[in-house]
Amino acid sequence: MTKTVHIIIACLDALPPSRVQRLVEVFPFPTKLDLVRLSLPKKAFTKKSGKWHAERILSYLSNQLKHLKQDKHWTTRAHIRKILGIVDVDLYFKKPSYLFGLSEFGNDAVISVHRLKPHFYGEAHDEELFQERAFKVAAHELGHAFGLGHCRTKRCIMTYAKTVGNIDDQHDEFCNPCKEKLIVSVSKKSSKVKLKSKG
Ligand SMILES: [Zn+2]
Ligand SMILES: [Zn+2]
Repeated sequence: MTKTVHIIIACLDALPPSRVQRLVEVFPFPTKLDLVRLSLPKKAFTKKSGKWHAERILSYLSNQLKHLKQDKHWTTRAHIRKILGIVDVDLYFKKPSYLFGLSEFGNDAVISVHRLKPHFYGEAHDEELFQERAFKVAAHELGHAFGLGHCRTKRCIMTYAKTVGNIDDQHDEFCNPCKEKLIVSVSKKSSKVKLKSKG
Protein backbone atom coordinates (compact mmCIF):
# COMPACT_ATOMS: atom_id res chain seq x y z
CA MET A 1 0.00 0.00 0.00
CA THR A 2 1.32 3.42 -0.89
CA LYS A 3 1.42 5.61 2.14
CA THR A 4 0.86 9.32 2.03
CA VAL A 5 3.79 11.68 1.84
CA HIS A 6 3.31 14.64 4.12
CA ILE A 7 4.69 18.00 3.01
CA ILE A 8 4.71 20.86 5.47
CA ILE A 9 4.86 24.26 3.85
CA ALA A 10 6.49 26.64 6.33
CA CYS A 11 6.01 30.29 5.45
CA LEU A 12 8.79 32.26 7.11
CA ASP A 13 7.48 35.83 7.32
CA ALA A 14 6.15 35.30 3.79
CA LEU A 15 2.76 34.87 2.20
CA PRO A 16 2.13 31.39 0.84
CA PRO A 17 1.81 31.49 -2.96
CA SER A 18 -1.65 29.99 -3.61
CA ARG A 19 -0.36 27.82 -6.45
CA VAL A 20 1.71 25.67 -4.09
CA GLN A 21 -1.57 23.87 -3.37
CA ARG A 22 -0.97 22.17 -6.71
CA LEU A 23 1.94 20.28 -5.16
CA VAL A 24 -0.61 17.62 -4.20
CA GLU A 25 -1.06 16.88 -7.92
CA VAL A 26 2.50 16.99 -9.23
CA PHE A 27 4.03 14.04 -7.35
CA PRO A 28 3.41 10.46 -8.46
CA PHE A 29 2.31 9.40 -4.96
CA PRO A 30 -0.40 10.54 -2.54
CA THR A 31 0.60 13.83 -0.97
CA LYS A 32 -0.86 15.77 1.90
CA LEU A 33 -0.01 19.42 2.50
CA ASP A 34 -0.11 21.40 5.69
CA LEU A 35 0.75 25.02 6.13
CA VAL A 36 2.54 26.58 9.09
CA ARG A 37 3.68 30.11 9.70
CA LEU A 38 7.06 30.72 11.25
CA SER A 39 9.42 33.64 11.63
CA LEU A 40 12.72 33.95 9.83
CA PRO A 41 15.53 32.87 12.16
CA LYS A 42 17.49 36.08 12.76
CA LYS A 43 20.76 34.19 13.04
CA ALA A 44 20.48 33.36 9.35
CA PHE A 45 20.79 37.01 8.36
CA THR A 46 24.14 38.26 7.09
CA LYS A 47 24.59 41.96 7.55
CA LYS A 48 27.43 42.28 5.08
CA SER A 49 25.46 41.04 2.09
CA GLY A 50 21.99 41.88 3.40
CA LYS A 51 21.02 38.32 2.46
CA TRP A 52 19.90 35.25 4.34
CA HIS A 53 22.00 32.12 4.60
CA ALA A 54 19.96 29.33 3.06
CA GLU A 55 21.70 26.51 4.90
CA ARG A 56 21.07 28.10 8.28
CA ILE A 57 17.41 28.42 7.36
CA LEU A 58 17.38 24.73 6.40
CA SER A 59 18.83 23.67 9.72
CA TYR A 60 16.30 25.87 11.54
CA LEU A 61 13.53 24.20 9.53
CA SER A 62 14.67 20.67 10.26
CA ASN A 63 14.73 21.55 13.95
CA GLN A 64 11.22 22.97 13.69
CA LEU A 65 10.13 19.78 11.97
CA LYS A 66 11.24 17.75 14.99
CA HIS A 67 8.93 19.83 17.19
CA LEU A 68 6.08 19.72 14.72
CA LYS A 69 6.29 15.94 14.50
CA GLN A 70 5.28 15.77 18.12
CA ASP A 71 2.12 17.73 17.39
CA LYS A 72 -0.85 15.39 17.63
CA HIS A 73 -2.44 17.21 14.74
CA TRP A 74 0.10 15.56 12.47
CA THR A 75 -0.31 11.96 13.36
CA THR A 76 -1.03 11.39 9.68
CA ARG A 77 0.38 8.00 8.81
CA ALA A 78 2.99 9.47 6.58
CA HIS A 79 6.14 7.41 6.23
CA ILE A 80 7.88 10.40 4.74
CA ARG A 81 7.55 13.95 5.92
CA LYS A 82 9.30 16.90 4.31
CA ILE A 83 9.35 20.54 5.21
CA LEU A 84 9.52 23.22 2.51
CA GLY A 85 10.34 26.71 3.74
CA ILE A 86 9.14 29.71 1.77
CA VAL A 87 10.82 33.08 2.23
CA ASP A 88 10.46 36.43 0.52
CA VAL A 89 14.03 37.60 1.11
CA ASP A 90 17.23 37.02 -0.83
CA LEU A 91 18.95 33.73 -0.09
CA TYR A 92 22.57 32.81 -0.58
CA PHE A 93 24.74 29.77 0.03
CA LYS A 94 28.54 29.92 0.04
CA LYS A 95 29.03 32.43 -2.76
CA PRO A 96 27.37 35.77 -2.08
CA SER A 97 25.14 35.57 -5.14
CA TYR A 98 21.52 34.52 -4.89
CA LEU A 99 19.42 31.39 -4.96
CA PHE A 100 15.90 30.48 -5.93
CA GLY A 101 16.13 27.60 -3.51
CA LEU A 102 18.32 25.16 -1.64
CA SER A 103 17.74 21.57 -0.73
CA GLU A 104 19.57 18.79 0.98
CA PHE A 105 19.18 15.60 -1.01
CA GLY A 106 16.86 13.32 0.86
CA ASN A 107 16.01 16.01 3.38
CA ASP A 108 14.25 19.35 3.37
CA ALA A 109 14.12 22.42 1.17
CA VAL A 110 13.74 26.18 1.18
CA ILE A 111 12.73 28.50 -1.64
CA SER A 112 12.73 32.26 -2.04
CA VAL A 113 9.97 33.97 -4.00
CA HIS A 114 11.85 37.26 -3.88
CA ARG A 115 13.28 37.05 -7.40
CA LEU A 116 10.26 35.30 -8.90
CA LYS A 117 8.18 38.47 -9.04
CA PRO A 118 8.19 40.18 -12.44
CA HIS A 119 8.49 43.57 -10.76
CA PHE A 120 11.86 42.54 -9.35
CA TYR A 121 13.03 42.86 -12.97
CA GLY A 122 11.20 46.13 -13.56
CA GLU A 123 8.29 44.39 -15.28
CA ALA A 124 4.58 44.86 -14.62
CA HIS A 125 3.05 42.69 -11.94
CA ASP A 126 1.79 39.40 -13.34
CA GLU A 127 0.21 37.27 -10.66
CA GLU A 128 -0.25 34.26 -12.93
CA LEU A 129 3.41 34.25 -13.93
CA PHE A 130 4.56 34.72 -10.34
CA GLN A 131 2.36 31.88 -9.09
CA GLU A 132 3.55 29.57 -11.85
CA ARG A 133 7.19 30.28 -11.00
CA ALA A 134 6.62 29.77 -7.28
CA PHE A 135 4.95 26.42 -7.97
CA LYS A 136 7.76 25.24 -10.26
CA VAL A 137 10.54 26.25 -7.86
CA ALA A 138 8.72 24.59 -4.95
CA ALA A 139 8.24 21.33 -6.90
CA HIS A 140 11.85 21.46 -8.15
CA GLU A 141 13.36 21.89 -4.68
CA LEU A 142 11.11 19.21 -3.24
CA GLY A 143 12.28 16.99 -6.11
CA HIS A 144 15.81 17.43 -4.74
CA ALA A 145 14.52 16.80 -1.23
CA PHE A 146 13.21 13.46 -2.52
CA GLY A 147 16.66 12.69 -3.91
CA LEU A 148 16.39 13.80 -7.54
CA GLY A 149 19.32 15.47 -9.26
CA HIS A 150 19.07 17.87 -12.18
CA CYS A 151 17.46 16.42 -15.28
CA ARG A 152 18.46 16.83 -18.91
CA THR A 153 15.06 16.06 -20.35
CA LYS A 154 14.03 19.19 -22.18
CA ARG A 155 11.68 21.34 -20.12
CA CYS A 156 11.42 18.88 -17.22
CA ILE A 157 10.73 20.73 -13.96
CA MET A 158 14.06 19.29 -12.68
CA THR A 159 16.19 21.03 -15.33
CA TYR A 160 18.69 23.41 -13.80
CA ALA A 161 17.38 26.98 -13.70
CA LYS A 162 19.84 29.81 -13.30
CA THR A 163 17.44 32.58 -14.28
CA VAL A 164 13.70 33.18 -14.14
CA GLY A 165 13.76 32.75 -17.92
CA ASN A 166 14.95 29.17 -17.39
CA ILE A 167 12.10 28.61 -14.92
CA ASP A 168 9.60 29.99 -17.44
CA ASP A 169 10.91 27.51 -20.02
CA GLN A 170 10.19 24.53 -17.77
CA HIS A 171 6.97 22.54 -17.98
CA ASP A 172 5.04 22.40 -14.76
CA GLU A 173 5.66 18.70 -14.26
CA PHE A 174 8.28 16.00 -13.80
CA CYS A 175 9.27 13.99 -16.88
CA ASN A 176 8.50 10.26 -16.75
CA PRO A 177 12.02 9.12 -15.72
CA CYS A 178 11.95 11.69 -12.89
CA LYS A 179 8.54 10.40 -11.79
CA GLU A 180 9.91 6.86 -11.73
CA LYS A 181 12.87 7.97 -9.62
CA LEU A 182 10.50 9.74 -7.23
CA ILE A 183 8.50 6.55 -6.76
CA VAL A 184 11.68 4.55 -6.11
CA SER A 185 12.94 7.18 -3.68
CA VAL A 186 9.73 7.16 -1.68
CA SER A 187 9.53 3.37 -1.63
CA LYS A 188 13.08 3.21 -0.31
CA LYS A 189 11.98 5.73 2.29
CA SER A 190 14.81 8.19 1.87
CA SER A 191 18.44 8.38 1.04
CA LYS A 192 20.75 9.75 3.66
CA VAL A 193 23.16 11.35 1.24
CA LYS A 194 24.24 14.70 2.55
CA LEU A 195 24.71 16.56 -0.69
CA LYS A 196 23.42 20.02 -1.15
CA SER A 197 21.77 21.25 -4.28
CA LYS A 198 21.75 24.90 -5.12
CA GLY A 199 19.02 26.11 -7.37
ZN1 LIG B 1 13.16 14.95 -15.56
ZN1 LIG C 1 17.96 22.31 -8.70
